[in-house]
Amino acid sequence: MRYETARCLHPECRDNVVPETSHWICRKRRGIQSEIIGCLRDIRVRWYKPKSSDRSLPEGQRRWYGVVQRALKVFLNAAYGVFGFEEFPLYCPPVAESTAAIARYAFKKTVEKARELGVKVLYGDTDSLFIKTEDEEVINELVAWAKKELKLDLELDKRYRYVVFSQRKKNYLGVTDKGVVDVKGLTGKKAHIPKFIKDAFEEMLNILREVKSEEEFEKAKRRSEELIRSKYQALKRGEYSLEDLSFRVMLSKSVERYVKTTPPHVKAAKKLINRGVAVVPGDIITYVKTRDSDGVEPLEFARKDQVDVDKYIEYLTSTFEQVLDALGIDFNKITGVTSLEYFM
Ligand SMILES: [Zn+2]
Repeated sequence: MRYETARCLHPECRDNVVPETSHWICRKRRGIQSEIIGCLRDIRVRWYKPKSSDRSLPEGQRRWYGVVQRALKVFLNAAYGVFGFEEFPLYCPPVAESTAAIARYAFKKTVEKARELGVKVLYGDTDSLFIKTEDEEVINELVAWAKKELKLDLELDKRYRYVVFSQRKKNYLGVTDKGVVDVKGLTGKKAHIPKFIKDAFEEMLNILREVKSEEEFEKAKRRSEELIRSKYQALKRGEYSLEDLSFRVMLSKSVERYVKTTPPHVKAAKKLINRGVAVVPGDIITYVKTRDSDGVEPLEFARKDQVDVDKYIEYLTSTFEQVLDALGIDFNKITGVTSLEYFM
């Protein structure tokens, strides 16, 4: 279904109605956008995606396939939504509405079928379903059914030992059968965080990775709370090394060429230059966050009493936020009591 095939002019296509809408789709022709998108999807699903997890390939190459695969996914998803965008030359609400309606319909039917097969549906969002079953055969049955009835390729993406769903947002945390902790939307968030916070986070993931039963999960929750409390207190008490609090960012061009904005690492680089330290593009600038007006100090000149502890607590909060939310733990509750103690 595409621009030229939605609500076509053939009277004999009028009864090919999209579920839950008043739109119909041509039976005689296939739209060119549909061909192209279908083709790109096949390329992604049959070539790039399997290659990205092919263990026989070197890691670098696998990661490259992963990047292409994800880029294609973004493009494919956007290719549907764009028909509902007014500025798009082929703006066509029936196409956008029909696409969404078909997706909803397929999703609903799949949930119904899963339940019919005795599978417990835990959670679902747009294009994925979290189901609980002991019987692997049932999943194959569901996949075969979707292929036949909906012409839809369902795929068993991941197996979780356990998953926790947050009550508030579309957020979940799971541990896969391979022991990988999977938090929705977490990837890439940890790129530039100091070792102190990175280590704390790793420690927490290790706690969650070990869980084998519901009882252990409750224990893991308590241990996670303990962990965060101790890290929070360590920050408040100055029990850290400046090295562990430092950010490491590469200077990609000379400091004079940052005109519009001055990112923290460039401010730190300028401070180094002012003190007679030579800095060239390609250097890794190591700095800590401080309470002075610049907000940064190069690691080699920083003193502990300059550290902006509140800033680091903010990083701690934002790093753990998502995981804690999924676990139903309130960061402020953990640290709240402690900060009160500090006043007394
Ligand atoms: Zn037609």
